[in-house]
Amino acid sequence: MTVIAQRLVGEVLLLTGGQLVPGGAVDIGTDGRIVAVGPESGLAPPERVGSVDRVGGLLMPGLVNAHAHTPMTLVRSAGDGMPLETWLTDAIWPREGHMTPDDAKWGMMLGSTEMLLAGVTTSCEMYFFEDAMVEAVRRTGGRLVMTPGVVSALLPNGDVEPRITELDELFSRYHDPSGRVTVGFAPHSPYDLTPEQVAKIARQAQAVGALLHIHLEETEAERALVLARHGCTATQLLADHGVLEGQVLAAHGVWLDANDQRLLAEAGASVAHCPISNLKLGSGIAPVVDFLSAGVNVGLGTDGVASNDNLDLWEEVKLTPLLARGSRRDPAAMDAAATLTLATTGAARAVGLDSVGDLRPGAWADVIRIDLDQPQFAPGIDLLTHVVFAGSSRHVTDVWVAGHRVVSDRMSTMVDLDEVVAQCRTRGRRLALAN
Ligand SMILES: [Zn+2]
Repeated sequence: MTVIAQRLVGEVLLLTGGQLVPGGAVDIGTDGRIVAVGPESGLAPPERVGSVDRVGGLLMPGLVNAHAHTPMTLVRSAGDGMPLETWLTDAIWPREGHMTPDDAKWGMMLGSTEMLLAGVTTSCEMYFFEDAMVEAVRRTGGRLVMTPGVVSALLPNGDVEPRITELDELFSRYHDPSGRVTVGFAPHSPYDLTPEQVAKIARQAQAVGALLHIHLEETEAERALVLARHGCTATQLLADHGVLEGQVLAAHGVWLDANDQRLLAEAGASVAHCPISNLKLGSGIAPVVDFLSAGVNVGLGTDGVASNDNLDLWEEVKLTPLLARGSRRDPAAMDAAATLTLATTGAARAVGLDSVGDLRPGAWADVIRIDLDQPQFAPGIDLLTHVVFAGSSRHVTDVWVAGHRVVSDRMSTMVDLDEVVAQCRTRGRRLALAN
């Protein structure tokens, strides 16, 4: 018999597909996974439960951020107003070039805590400084899908093999589906790397069963560049080189055409939809309803905070259906339940996790509590719609990851946030001045 370590009892549970369960509770095992969910009256008798915590409020799965570069918190807002290409080369890369592993650790701790306080329990990170990233989330309590980056500028003589060896080692060291860290491979993009380089990385990812995370069709200029260089779209290029044969997460997809979408759908690939970053950099608006109609799985992402400029996925949750409705002039283009799917189970599937984003037996107890006593949740008749269109991260009061309470009454239980903020102020200023 599974031991029930703790029971969280809310006013309402929010389950997959937008199902609301009044008087609902979540039973959590000693292993941090959910044992049972449902109306408290239908669960095991209290004497079989280690502790019963009547937390009230709305209990729902933690949100999943499908595309981020979180240590970029240290360069937050840098280069505002520049287009992607010059923003990267003139504002971001020169600053990041001075970043140390310790900087990345503090930047990751800051961003990870920012996300946890907002109820975002998992993030998929394309970055470097891998040991520092893992150490940071071990301290904050967050869940990390770490996809170490591969960029052409860091390859000796264009040789991708040494980095593939490193990726392999990182995968062996840190990939742990029974813990809080999993590992994928992240070739930057089909315009930064050659198709042969991306294909080599993809083959190795496929060999070990790792997620392949890549930027795809973010800007119109990038699309034109790849078309001119290769005579086909970036997606076709990836398909022709066998890259789509594994598990693929493509970030952005703003300029994907119908054929590209078909290729991604047939391959079972996912798109990380990052509408705020795409708007802030003037890249465009991804046709996310078309993706879904074509059968492409979609998860929401913030992207890095230099192009957002925060990690509050609730902003994407509200903006995604608004953009979909406004751009299609159709108020039925995306409803509240479909939107929440993109931030939970859709994003979880996109980042290669099948046991987060959903309150169900066997899933990780990554649970967040929303304070329903706030004005935005009255009258509470259309509660699901309130959550998506009236709610926000400021209503998240408590957060559990694998059953461990990492945020209590809007405070991190894991880190001294004042210290983290102070460290990041000092380090961020140093990077800006070194530029
Ligand atoms: Zn990105």
